[in-house]
Amino acid sequence: MKKSFFLLSSAIAFIMLAYSNEIQSQNLRVRIFTTVNITQVNLTASFGTYFLEDTIKIKKQDKITFSAENGKLKAMINDKVLCNKDSIRFTSEDIKCFFQITPLNAKQRRYDNNLIVKLSKDKKNLLLINDVTQDNYLAGVVQSEAGGASDNVEFFKVQAICCRSYMMRFINKHIKEDYNLCDDVNCQVYLSRANKPQCIEGAAATNGEIIVDDNGKIIETLFHSNSGGQTANSEDVWGNKISYLRSVVDSFSIGKPNYQWEKEIKEKDWLNYFKNKGVNIKDYNTKQELLNFSQEEGRKAKLFDVPLTQIRKDFQLKSTFFDVIPWGSNVKLKGKGYGHGVGMSQEGAVNMCDEGYEYWEVIEHYYQGVKIINLNDNKSEDNTKK
Ligand SMILES: [Zn+2]
Repeated sequence: MKKSFFLLSSAIAFIMLAYSNEIQSQNLRVRIFTTVNITQVNLTASFGTYFLEDTIKIKKQDKITFSAENGKLKAMINDKVLCNKDSIRFTSEDIKCFFQITPLNAKQRRYDNNLIVKLSKDKKNLLLINDVTQDNYLAGVVQSEAGGASDNVEFFKVQAICCRSYMMRFINKHIKEDYNLCDDVNCQVYLSRANKPQCIEGAAATNGEIIVDDNGKIIETLFHSNSGGQTANSEDVWGNKISYLRSVVDSFSIGKPNYQWEKEIKEKDWLNYFKNKGVNIKDYNTKQELLNFSQEEGRKAKLFDVPLTQIRKDFQLKSTFFDVIPWGSNVKLKGKGYGHGVGMSQEGAVNMCDEGYEYWEVIEHYYQGVKIINLNDNKSEDNTKK
């Protein structure tokens, strides 16, 4: 009985591994221009050899046009109608090829590898799907989301692992619509192919690596701009305790561009806000606490019974990590950090990399107790980074 259980669990482990290896080697289908209604696009092959429908070779100067017209998808080469089909493939010879796409009503972009053009469900618009290798996609996402944050390859390795973890976790998010992910913020922003060498190298150098928690589950790689010197517990922001999203002291965020902020609010508005939340502002001690609230000893979650996240939202504050001081007829909020404060501080991560820390040290600092595993690794043991 014991033996068969062992065999069964080994078989399951083997199948899971084979499955993840299979996913790992597959191209992704990513919808592009998701938020725009597009009826016509022009295409040119920027680099490498391209084919339409795998057979018609495209010359560099050829202008390809796809349009949705009268409920049909029309493809043209140099103004000559080629075909009317439901779905047309624009495919590249190898993974280094890239193309340029110019919609009638949106900015031109460049993408790697292949494009699948379909009609939208209502047949009025085009559905544009970039069929792309996972590392090309990730390099593009890393550049779209954080390309301007640093020139240090180590930082882009951190970003690439986080984005790959998200990609693997949500790889079937749009599968019912016949693609894996979209290019909008609800998946990961993917505005073009990467052309910044550090972004490309960051994705390539970490090929197959993802972050898992102590149960082997892919983690949620939450990040913000600057922690203000201490990250927040997940439950203090969303009420949901997650083992790896713990508050840590984060000296790496101190002194960076989004480290500090200030905001003045009329004292009467500040006090009335709490009065309306049921706080007895007539009580002397209560009033003093409201006018001299301090988080110098560390992050707090509430001021009386009002969650700091609510106060942040209502007064449009950069973070929940602030002190209050009386300031004439106003109160001054002296704040630290920018963003929700949970998980990784982006400015802190940049700073750690510039100070010579390796990417896995950055990840282990901001996500407590996690492991980096490599999906390419056939060994089920000893595939952690450390
Ligand atoms: Zn999406």
